[in-house]
Amino acid sequence: MRVPVTGLLDRPGGRRELVTSVPADAFGDDPWGPLVDALDGPIALDLLLESVSGGILARGSIRATARTSCARCLAPLLRTWDVDVLELHRAQAAVDREDDGDEDDLDYRLVDGDTQLELDQMVRDALVVGQPVRALCRPDCAGLCPTCGTDRNTSPCDHGDERPVDPRWEALRGLRLPPAAGEGPPTDAG
Ligand SMILES: [Zn+2]
Ligand SMILES: [Zn+2]
Repeated sequence: MRVPVTGLLDRPGGRRELVTSVPADAFGDDPWGPLVDALDGPIALDLLLESVSGGILARGSIRATARTSCARCLAPLLRTWDVDVLELHRAQAAVDREDDGDEDDLDYRLVDGDTQLELDQMVRDALVVGQPVRALCRPDCAGLCPTCGTDRNTSPCDHGDERPVDPRWEALRGLRLPPAAGEGPPTDAG
């Protein structure tokens, strides 16, 4: 997605709002990683574009919704998340001026002879890095029973919170080790 910035770049201190909602594929066809098939609906941009020395500063928030599943009960759910951004898109003219031989490929550049803001990489980077690590269908989701697999949100089972013991370790249940040298049995002197 490209946004014309002619007029803005030549006017230091000038600002322009960019509040819009656009389909995810407006930000390029490359895979989004784990998000690639999961994005659901448009991506909302609420940005302020500000002309600063050397380029355009884009700040604000980006919101997306993706299909995922609850980390505890595996129920499918839609997760919406916001990411704050504050990124300088450097003008090529400024990059050439500095030309210190230490090119940082990670920053963002204006394109088309410094006439357009290219938002693809910034939006994708922000959403992929900023996505929540895990989602819950609700904060108090009871999850699946580790013993029988029952969804405890819908039908409680009798297993309580005890985790199943790996049968290979079952024989160790009855094992009692003698106290090591220098360690007596716990005394109850209270
Ligand atoms: Zn859940
Ligand atoms: Zn159970």
